[in-house]
Amino acid sequence: MAVQAKRTSPAATSSYAPRSRRSRHLAFFSGLPHYVDSGDCTWVCEFCGAYFWYVERVLKFSTPAHPRYSHCCQDGGVVLPYPSAFAPQFVALYQNLNFMKDIMAYNSMFSMSSFGANVDEVVNHDRGPYVFKISGQISHRIGSLSPDPIKGPRFLQLYLFDLEHEVQNRLRAIDGPRKRDLDSDIVQFLVTFLGANNEYVRTFKTAKLMADESNLDFYAVRLFNNVADCRYGLPSPGSLGCIVSGDDTTCTTYDIVVFSHSGRPQRISKLHPSYMPLQYPLLFPYGEEGWSPRLKMGNRRGVTVNMYYAYYIHARQHIWSPILNSSRLFQQYLVDAYTCIEESRLDYITKHQSNLRCDYVSGVGF
Ligand SMILES: [Zn+2]
Repeated sequence: MAVQAKRTSPAATSSYAPRSRRSRHLAFFSGLPHYVDSGDCTWVCEFCGAYFWYVERVLKFSTPAHPRYSHCCQDGGVVLPYPSAFAPQFVALYQNLNFMKDIMAYNSMFSMSSFGANVDEVVNHDRGPYVFKISGQISHRIGSLSPDPIKGPRFLQLYLFDLEHEVQNRLRAIDGPRKRDLDSDIVQFLVTFLGANNEYVRTFKTAKLMADESNLDFYAVRLFNNVADCRYGLPSPGSLGCIVSGDDTTCTTYDIVVFSHSGRPQRISKLHPSYMPLQYPLLFPYGEEGWSPRLKMGNRRGVTVNMYYAYYIHARQHIWSPILNSSRLFQQYLVDAYTCIEESRLDYITKHQSNLRCDYVSGVGF
């Protein structure tokens, strides 16, 4: 008859607890989880050049000598662009330890939209690596173009008003204990770099100039992305446009319309291509477009939100990505991206209620 050893409680074994230092060490290490060495992340997708561990291969289509991977690009179906080359000074910032330590504060300083979430900081009170954790939903909101006379310019307004004191205004807009560590030289560099290269900054500045020349006191700016349905080239200047009109503009919840004077910040749809670039200018420094329903694969099927984010969070040969090198900001971006994926799933369920024959999704999304 087989006899199974019974696990006893610590109290029951207290009289047999190891006494010597060697025994205590052995007891400590025997309680740790068992680790398996999976080798190095040196295997490469044959289609897009993404790096993988060997164990991540698709078993069905792999041989021992020829592993296949598909999570990155769906067997070459998804091809998305990267900027042709990042400016060396911008890349050098990501090797600057002072910048990396406060990269979330620097990004917040240059965001054109505000980040709304219930961030749980308690998880970081103990020792260990930084963890970005939220509860509830994430929202990005964009305010008016004109600053509040009492609070002064914030977010997008910092790009347009009181430009002589832009660095001081940006430093003043940041709250928190990290504020004293922020470097005004880095802020000055980013002001110059984004002002010269970011499509959103250029577009909003042009819109304000047009409104000023036309002596418009009350106006609205509607953003639109000027890209073709099937995009396999690199992002180019002029891919973003705007329409300046009176403030009687009607808009849907999907559109981004920024009013010159508005009491309430407008919530941006997670499925809008400008959702991420407006919030993360340090990850999209040239104003590259985010996910759009118009993105197509090689077989003309649409690129899903999941495919889009999976493509860009893979490291690739000979490609430098600010997203993958942004440390703590990368964690925030990942959490944000996951909520976008979830929202797109809910959106799909909402629109296809009549086609779905599952009781558990009935009424979801309303
Ligand atoms: Zn691939």
